[in-house]
Amino acid sequence: MKAYLDKDTCISCGLCPSICPEVFEMQDDGKAGICNNGKNIVPEDVADSVTDAEEACPVAAISTE
Ligand code: SF4
Repeated sequence: MKAYLDKDTCISCGLCPSICPEVFEMQDDGKAGICNNGKNIVPEDVADSVTDAEEACPVAAISTE
């Protein structure tokens, strides 16, 4: 699985890092971002929490493939 986060859409609610800190973090720009920038590959053991974060994001800024 790969995860993507659209910073232009993110409203900085802080939900995704609280659900899946292995993949999402709040960054210096005040928006959420993917940990290890540039490496969007999600470890298999946290794939379920990435899906939870995707579904929980209030503005649908997170997508996966
Ligand atoms: S859940 Fe969505 S709006 Fe909230 S910090 Fe994460 S990407 Fe941004």
